[in-house]
Amino acid sequence: MTIPLLAETIGLETAVAYAYLVAIVLFILGLKMLTSVKTAAWGNAISAIGMAIASVATLLLFNQDAPPGQNYAISLAWILVAVGIGTAIGLAMAVKVPMTGMPQMVAILNGFGGIASLLVASAEYLRTANPSEIPIHILIATGLAIIIGGVTFTGSLVAFAKLQGLVTGSPIFFPMQKTVNALLLVAAAGLITVVIYQPDQELALASVAVIALILGVGLVIPIGGADMPVVISLLNSYSGLAASMAGFVLGNTALIVTGALVGASGIILTNIMCTAMNRSLANVLFGGLGVSSTTTSSAPDAKTKKGKAREFTLDDAVIILDAARQVVIVPGYGMAVAQAQHAVKELADALEERGITVKYAIHPVAGRMPGHMNVLLAEANVPYEQLCDLETINPEFDNADVALVIGANDVTNPAARHAKDSPIYGMPILNVDKARTVFVIKRSMNPGFAGIENELYYLPNCGMLFGDAKKVVNSLVKQLTESG
Ligand code: NDP
Repeated sequence: MTIPLLAETIGLETAVAYAYLVAIVLFILGLKMLTSVKTAAWGNAISAIGMAIASVATLLLFNQDAPPGQNYAISLAWILVAVGIGTAIGLAMAVKVPMTGMPQMVAILNGFGGIASLLVASAEYLRTANPSEIPIHILIATGLAIIIGGVTFTGSLVAFAKLQGLVTGSPIFFPMQKTVNALLLVAAAGLITVVIYQPDQELALASVAVIALILGVGLVIPIGGADMPVVISLLNSYSGLAASMAGFVLGNTALIVTGALVGASGIILTNIMCTAMNRSLANVLFGGLGVSSTTTSSAPDAKTKKGKAREFTLDDAVIILDAARQVVIVPGYGMAVAQAQHAVKELADALEERGITVKYAIHPVAGRMPGHMNVLLAEANVPYEQLCDLETINPEFDNADVALVIGANDVTNPAARHAKDSPIYGMPILNVDKARTVFVIKRSMNPGFAGIENELYYLPNCGMLFGDAKKVVNSLVKQLTESG
């Protein structure tokens, strides 16, 4: 039964409430399905259907004559124009943006969510003829939607600019930064209190919006580019909270629940990322760490204070790979940069053709965004069953003949297990050093995200294969195939 038919039988308002309920159930199912690579595409589709149901129901509700004293000023034609423009931009971005550009894309989308909530809450306030009639809880929700939405908007723009390389990825500090940010927050809270007691103080509410926009910049600029994915996940949570507040302002249950779902899942993801990096959220937000690896000091060649890392030739590597029975591939950020995932799949196929068992070890924070490696390998049609998480694969390294590390660094550094002064101390790592032989494919001795040397490279069972990941893996495939 469609919503209009249902509306004739039980009344429009009740039909819309049911439609919202169905949409919310679909959102929750969709979120659940997004937790597994196998079901993620369906989860996305189911959530999109939920959003379509919620949008149509809302339009039907507002397409009727406004009750006395209300002016909806809604125009279906304009809404359809906006939907058309949005769809065209969305399609173009979906096709154009590379997988490595996803964090930036998510940042921009969060930012739009934040500014939408700010604008909706402000518009609801402004279109009320007599603000003193607005109930106190709606005034509070209006203030919160404006402040959280504003911070999310400009914070996300800064995150986007840092990741896109439009501004420096290094933390930017100014004098008394934390004090200024704290004062801005206190001022915004004070102004919201003023509006609660004197609801007609439009200027106070406008000032909250301005402060929120400045605060968003102030909070995100001191955070390094490499920590941006965590910040983006947090801003995602904020955008959900802002939407939820806007839902209270509009009295729209679907928006309240959807916003809360986004807020909760964003904060859960933030927590997962911080735990996997062994950092506290406070350390990410206020630590001023996370300078991208290009700005940290690096050891330019294979000779460092720890001795000399052993360099292997491709011929050596092919002989050892050819004789192996079990190979574990360990992908990392470098594989994403080199876009080597298809070459890696070809290499795995070539090894399997020789009867060698191949598995992939996926560290939860390998790469620069959650699920980065899973997405890339899925794109290259690597079977899900071969992707093993940290807990599953670690015991298997003892039996592996070769651990083939492709552009991964920090997630393989044994220092995390014992070096108390190391920034990654305590981070669970992939125990690649337990394999009989470890090959590391990377371009130089440069460090990874954490900016530290990797002890692995100096172990007697480890050999370096220097070069771009795609080129080296392609050469390995070629040599393996040629050797029959
Ligand atoms: P790392 O950042 O530790 O190392 C990546 C390595 O890839 C570098 O050492 C680099 O060495 C190499 N590399 C870069 N480009 C290429 C290329 N074209 N070909 C071959 N190698 C290349 O990556 P990991 O995946 O091991 O670890 C991820 C790090 O990012 C962790 O410290 C994690 O905490 C952090 N992080 C992860 C997030 C996530 O959500 N996944 C979010 C935020 C941070 P070289 O320059 O010598 O080639």
